[in-house]
Amino acid sequence: MPTALETLRQMVGINSFTGNRDGVNKLGRFTAERFSSLGFAAEFVPSVNPSYGDHLVLTRRGRTSKSIALVSHLDTVFPPEEEARNNFHWQPEGDRIYGPGTHDIKGGTAMMWLALEAIRTQAPKVFEDVTWKLFWNSSEETLSHDFSEVCRRRFDRETLAALVFESEGRLGNERLMVVARKGRGTWRVTVTGRGAHAGAKHRHGANAILQLAQTVQRIEALSDYSRDLTFNVATVSGGTVLNRVPHEAIAEGEFRAFKPEVYQQAKAALRALAGPGEVRSVADRYACDVKVEILSESRPWPRNPETDRLAALWQEAGKQLGIPVNVEERGGLSDGNLIWDAVPTLDGLGPWGDNDHCSERSADGSKLPEYVEVSSFVPKAALNTIAILTLIEQADRR
Ligand SMILES: [Zn+2]
Repeated sequence: MPTALETLRQMVGINSFTGNRDGVNKLGRFTAERFSSLGFAAEFVPSVNPSYGDHLVLTRRGRTSKSIALVSHLDTVFPPEEEARNNFHWQPEGDRIYGPGTHDIKGGTAMMWLALEAIRTQAPKVFEDVTWKLFWNSSEETLSHDFSEVCRRRFDRETLAALVFESEGRLGNERLMVVARKGRGTWRVTVTGRGAHAGAKHRHGANAILQLAQTVQRIEALSDYSRDLTFNVATVSGGTVLNRVPHEAIAEGEFRAFKPEVYQQAKAALRALAGPGEVRSVADRYACDVKVEILSESRPWPRNPETDRLAALWQEAGKQLGIPVNVEERGGLSDGNLIWDAVPTLDGLGPWGDNDHCSERSADGSKLPEYVEVSSFVPKAALNTIAILTLIEQADRR
């Protein structure tokens, strides 16, 4: 644990904001060097987006065809200026360590190292037998999809699992493994009306803002909690100057769902809002036009038997250790969304902490930045280690 913590401290000291290409690459090299003592060879894979750093793949070839993939990411959401402005850095306080990436996800990377080190010392034969492939996305926080191919091309035929080291969930005493994540689509709605002089030719105008105001209500109404479907209208803009009936208005947002069919229905319902609007000019019935664009998509990772089978191993390991383990379906995305259909995938192997993506601290303590809980590492590392060993043992028996 002291070695893992020291590694984590040094990782947190390297700013690796997604847009800080040099910082992400520096962290990649540092990570490769840290794992080289366990016998891993490094491959740096350039991102499709040239402003992002390299993805990192570390491989340790085993003596058998069995392979296990461990997945984390290099980037954080905090630009260097923000860290400086909020004095946000490595800061131990009791059982907590505050700092950028302590929890999301450099703590997860430290957890990977701990589990591998435990397997190497406690089960050296297994460590040598299995091919270990470790993947770090350089730009997970911006949902870079090229990482999907980086992993898929390198998964071995007999990959027993892809294990994602995002943060642990908690419900009371229970540790929650992540077995599903929502898919997410982002969209833009552009309404084109007809501009007109607001004083002289008001009746000639078709007000794009008025149309958008009606359209966004329909979008929000597509949300359906009973099907875990949410739409969020996130930004609106429109109009130019005050003496003009606005000719254009734009809204952007996202939608999310767990089930692929719900996701597809949601997308179709959104698309169906395109076409002529009901807002028309009084003079000649000129209609506003509504255009719907899907800007980006991350597919859902739905509940599936392969993932459930892995989760059962973690629950079983929890019983052995006296740690209650359960599962959760999470609304946020991870690299699990990109790979779950290629190999059996489980997420939430990281340590416990909180306040991800927050760097601010208020004097009264009502606002606290991201932290990781130090005492959560060892029990979780034990849980991960035992479950991984059981997974390999089961594959040996087959
Ligand atoms: Zn993360």
